[in-house]
Amino acid sequence: MIRYQLVCKCEHQFESWFRSGDDYDHQQKEDLLWCPACGSSKVCKALMAPNVKTGRNEPQAPQNLTADIDQQKFQDELRTMRDQVTQTSEYVGDNFTSVARKMHYGDEPERKIYGEAKLKDVKDLNEEGITVLPLPSLPEDKN
Ligand SMILES: [Zn+2]
Repeated sequence: MIRYQLVCKCEHQFESWFRSGDDYDHQQKEDLLWCPACGSSKVCKALMAPNVKTGRNEPQAPQNLTADIDQQKFQDELRTMRDQVTQTSEYVGDNFTSVARKMHYGDEPERKIYGEAKLKDVKDLNEEGITVLPLPSLPEDKN
């Protein structure tokens, strides 16, 4: 596994792991890489400061450090936002679409809910004037 520092066209920096340099080339060419900050797939390798031990006490590549912190902060903000929703809303699981619709038409008492819905259902709801916001997904969701 190798880790590359990547940068998108808006100059957001982030890190990603690859099986090999070829794996990176492939993903870059197929637009499989995207920026977690803005979603852009215009992503390329950032220039890396060489990690050479000089024996002197030099600070290590400060721009990479900043990117790490921003990335962490970004994910913390997403997590906080999501926790607020999940703690103040009722989980309705797969029934999300039908419950949201019933609330809209007055068949169920209005309350905050969250759950799972297919993209198509979300589009249908939006067309009926029911606003649905996606919850951000976090890296640990993919475990
Ligand atoms: Zn970006």
